[in-house]
Amino acid sequence: MREHVPPHAPGPPQDDSPQRNADGSGRGGISRRDFLASGVAGLAAGGVASWTMAEEALAAQRTGGSIGPRAPRGRRVLLKGGCVLSLDPQVGDFETADVLIDGSRIAAVQPNLKASAEVIDASNMIVMPGFVDTHRHMWEGPLRNILPNGLLSDYNRDITGIARSVYRPEDAHVGGLVSALGAINAGVTTVLDWSHIGNSPEHTDAAIEGLRESGIRSVYAFGSGTAGPRNRFPQDIRRLRAQYFSSDDQLLTLAMAASVDAAHWAVAREVGAPVTVHVNGANQLVPVTAAMGPDVTYIHCPNVTETEWQTIAHTGGNVSIACSIEMKMGHGVPPVQQALDHGIRPSLSVDVETEMPGEFFTQMRAVLTLQRMLLLARQRAGEPQLPPLLTVRDVIEFATVEGARDNRLDRKIGTLTPGKEADVILLRMDHINVMPVNNAYGAVVLGMDTSNVDTVFIGGTLRKWQGKLVGVDLSRVNRLVHRSRDYVVSKAGWPKTRLGGYLQGH
Ligand SMILES: [Zn+2]
Repeated sequence: MREHVPPHAPGPPQDDSPQRNADGSGRGGISRRDFLASGVAGLAAGGVASWTMAEEALAAQRTGGSIGPRAPRGRRVLLKGGCVLSLDPQVGDFETADVLIDGSRIAAVQPNLKASAEVIDASNMIVMPGFVDTHRHMWEGPLRNILPNGLLSDYNRDITGIARSVYRPEDAHVGGLVSALGAINAGVTTVLDWSHIGNSPEHTDAAIEGLRESGIRSVYAFGSGTAGPRNRFPQDIRRLRAQYFSSDDQLLTLAMAASVDAAHWAVAREVGAPVTVHVNGANQLVPVTAAMGPDVTYIHCPNVTETEWQTIAHTGGNVSIACSIEMKMGHGVPPVQQALDHGIRPSLSVDVETEMPGEFFTQMRAVLTLQRMLLLARQRAGEPQLPPLLTVRDVIEFATVEGARDNRLDRKIGTLTPGKEADVILLRMDHINVMPVNNAYGAVVLGMDTSNVDTVFIGGTLRKWQGKLVGVDLSRVNRLVHRSRDYVVSKAGWPKTRLGGYLQGH
């Protein structure tokens, strides 16, 4: 137990409200007695005699409602002795190595680093880049698992039809917040929010605020919403660029969640926003062939024609596969192999939480097992010279490197590379579901789940620590999301019951 309160420790809270800075951030207060009683001494290996990031994390967990310990310039954290999967071929992987975080960036990845830094013991951890989701409709957070047996037609009727039409800005806000916090909790450090809740500018602004409040790294893909006089898609993207996205040096960046419409894509390009578009069926891309380019990500892509595949490939396009949802809701067979056959390594996406979880272990397992099942069936049918089976490393690359590329963030994230921003996750190897770890890639893809996600850094800021979100008032989030759910369900005219779902027939 330490003898003194460090000189820059925050003082006792004056009331129950968290301390807030002008930018909405802040550090939860903790009294000397609480601090001493919390038993945090020695949590940071090496017994660093200062107020550490780990201790701040515990303080923020206890108080809630404040954002996690930030990554001020010059603050250094050493993740010591982990099994490091850098995903960067130039850096390599290490049975045991250290990762040095300096402020918001990764400073070094190598064994036996000597550095003056706070030390976090990673000896029972896999240390790797955070997962990157390239397509998720985060406004649907209050509607999680509401359509458990639904097909795409049910979804279009009930979710983007009825529910979206009754959504208020605050529903979009809490949707983004709860979906983003769920992502962070699962080690998904970046999500492209495919935000087709643009019923009004207020809905759009609220969705952006939910992301900002969560602390996640996000590409906000501005989309249309329910038709009406206040729907300002696509032209309102000009305001968004000026109001929220004038700098690229921030956690939130801008894209357009567009339909297959070259005029919309032109507006996106006018403000330098990449385009993300759903494609589901043959010849949908024909009208936009001349506009296709490397700044477009094509989502789903089942049943597109060979000509369309060639055009996507030749124009440098990107492909995001929401494997679980495509299989479950009836989009068609996820075209993992078709993308690979055309030289495109896909990224992965959750798509909707109305009927799939918001984590990436499910996504990686789905893609791996589907591709192998289909290829092995071709092999049994006697087809010679088959393409290679996917490996566990392949799907981790899809979940990190390719996600970063498709989200236009590969210069910032996606690998543990010195100079990149520190979006780093620590996955526990000493949990009962994976011990003993005999193959790190195998353990992540085949054995782990969200319970293994111990620690999450985003841009060097600690967002999860010792298995708990940092600086999140979960009781407040719980209250808000229930209030929102109750409102939407009531306005939609759905029966309110947790047994059998809200929707008739589901
Ligand atoms: Zn979608």
